[in-house]
Amino acid sequence: MKIKQKKRGLYSMDEFIKQLDPNLDYISHEIKDGKCYITVTSNRKEVTCPFCGWPSSRIHSTYNRTFQDLPIQGNKVFIIIRNRKFFCDNSDCNHTTFAERFDFISYKAKKTRRLEDEIVRLSINCSSITASKILKENVVDIGKSTVCNLLKKKETPVIDKKTITAVCIDDFAIKKRRSYGTIMVDIFTHQILDMIDSRDYETVCEWLKSYPNLRIISRDGSVTYNNAITGAHPEALQISDRFHLLKNLTSYVTEYLKKRLKPQVSIQSVSQEIKEVETIKQANENRKLTLKEKYEKIKQLSLEGRCKTEICRSLNMDIRAYDKLIAMTPEEREKLFQTKNMIIHEEKVKQKMERINEVRELKRIGLSNIEISRRTGLDRKTVRRYLDENFNPVHASYGKKRNGKLTPYIKTIDEYLERGMMGSYIVEKIHEMGYDGSSSTVRHYMTDWKKRRKKYYDRSREDGTKTEIIKRENIFKLLYHPIEKVKIISEKQFEMICKEYPFFEKIYKITWEFKDMLTNKNIEAFDKWIERAKNLNIPEINSFINGVERDMEAVRNAIKYEYSNGLVEGCINKLKVIKRIMYGRCSFETLKIKILQLEKMRLFN
Ligand SMILES: [Zn+2]
Repeated sequence: MKIKQKKRGLYSMDEFIKQLDPNLDYISHEIKDGKCYITVTSNRKEVTCPFCGWPSSRIHSTYNRTFQDLPIQGNKVFIIIRNRKFFCDNSDCNHTTFAERFDFISYKAKKTRRLEDEIVRLSINCSSITASKILKENVVDIGKSTVCNLLKKKETPVIDKKTITAVCIDDFAIKKRRSYGTIMVDIFTHQILDMIDSRDYETVCEWLKSYPNLRIISRDGSVTYNNAITGAHPEALQISDRFHLLKNLTSYVTEYLKKRLKPQVSIQSVSQEIKEVETIKQANENRKLTLKEKYEKIKQLSLEGRCKTEICRSLNMDIRAYDKLIAMTPEEREKLFQTKNMIIHEEKVKQKMERINEVRELKRIGLSNIEISRRTGLDRKTVRRYLDENFNPVHASYGKKRNGKLTPYIKTIDEYLERGMMGSYIVEKIHEMGYDGSSSTVRHYMTDWKKRRKKYYDRSREDGTKTEIIKRENIFKLLYHPIEKVKIISEKQFEMICKEYPFFEKIYKITWEFKDMLTNKNIEAFDKWIERAKNLNIPEINSFINGVERDMEAVRNAIKYEYSNGLVEGCINKLKVIKRIMYGRCSFETLKIKILQLEKMRLFN
């Protein structure tokens, strides 16, 4: 019940009740535990018998009848009516008494009609379980089955089948790959008119016959629908659905392109990628650097004026790691650079240095090399080396990475990979060449290589031109959207694709010509288009044309007439949403009721 602020103040309780029925009088009300009980009475002097229609004013008795109404300010509302029973004075009537009835509530119902409407309105948009939960919060106590029953009890809105002249029909899945239904939408009002749980010839034909005045029927290219419409309304104008025509054409074209294009299409590089490629090469070289070396590089590169992203890319470094490294104090950084091996190494150097100092001290006090050797237990040669001024305690090969077993073969592997050879073949070859490491090492190297390759387009062709990779899916997008909408492919790239793959250009043109023909309603161009499409001699396009020729009249009508088509698809989307909200649990009948109720609400509210 809406609380409107009137000029002279708030509604009085009596006015609330009068909104429900002007013949009711307010007596009293009481609010208890979030529930509002309003007692009312009827003020009608004369009441007609519901069984015979005779008027009566002779009261037999009164009793209290309680029912629920819309909530007021979050309080559940119960109305207690002092309901009167009357005598029926009509001697022909087979009832002697009857109770007064009201328009706002059904006979014996526990809820007013407007409350029931509210429940139905809510439950259409969600499942009965959810509806019950929401309603229980502050509207009305109601179980999920009652919600369901109310929904089913609501009579489906009746449409006058004679007034329907132009419709779209399409199929939809009730249960995917198992059962299908057909939906009918009015072309003019875009209203969902009807649904049946079948798409078979006979059922659809009978169903269509029940609409006697259909003149225009839009449908997809299916033969069953074609026959069913011809069977039911042979004189009706059939229009092949433009949306389906386009969908068919594009899917045939995509099928063909899938055969001709690899998932990753390589074209000659058109962007400023060359600079990038150099950075990538560097990144590959810089991959094995230690953190300390990387830091040195960072300093060097920033002096050269490179930006953060560039440096990170060239050093194969995460940008967060970069930020962390830069934000550190020099001490922290020093600590970070020290690896476990370094710490051990430093310890060893310290110990060695102590030894050396000991030897040198002994020499300083005048002992001979032999004597030193005897006292320290070191070899005489070692003593001599330690006494050398230029002796370096750091091991000569310290900090140098030793070559792995794979290193001598890396060049060969790179070469093979470049030629696109199979991994197993390469592994075999390398073993033949004398590699005795494990195969998984080779495989790791190869996946790494491929990753690097995939990440950056550093592939170059035999003639030395740089290439770049475009994903096939992105090229398919060009068939659906105009080039300026496909942001992932630049116009230059598009030109290059057309140049390198002439068949794509042809396909692209023929698809868009068809689209333009449909949008511009250019029926004259149609025959020429078919001729040109046939001349391409592409089996997939030929199958499309065959389909079109089988259904020529309807396709021509699709080009000629301006009937909005996407609307059935829109309706089917709506239907799918509702179907999913119901968790696919309820029957086709409930689905139909929900859909039609929703349509009624959309149109009349
Ligand atoms: Zn009567």
